[in-house]
Amino acid sequence: MAVFINDTCINCGACIDECPVEAIVDEDDNPTGEELYYVYPDKCVECVDHHDEPACATSCPTEGCITWDHKFAGDDKAFFNGPNYVDGKDYVMEDADAEMPFREDISDEARANRENVVD
Ligand code: SF4
Ligand code: SF4
Repeated sequence: MAVFINDTCINCGACIDECPVEAIVDEDDNPTGEELYYVYPDKCVECVDHHDEPACATSCPTEGCITWDHKFAGDDKAFFNGPNYVDGKDYVMEDADAEMPFREDISDEARANRENVVD
């Protein structure tokens, strides 16, 4: 990944048009069935080469709603094959073989702890 939209999402729609790669879908299109906006981990580029910070997070009005998540690259991708989305559900991907860009200055710990993208 990527970034992660958690269950504090109020479905306001501020983030979706900010994403340069159309990685975000709304609650109606969330493939997990959750009533939240969803970031496809195999599409998110963490806004690398697009913005200084993830544009979704800078546009989101809900504090702590958009957090870091594991890298969608290399061995880290195994995380997305387990029941690690909300409420023990699986993530949904369209291309599990994708290798996505990520921000090297974000630690694995920050990703594992799903720390806020924007304080
Ligand atoms: S971090 Fe950037 S690429 Fe990823 S979902 Fe947010 S806006 Fe889209
Ligand atoms: S901007 Fe934040 S609260 Fe609004 S839909 Fe996106 S993630 Fe949810």
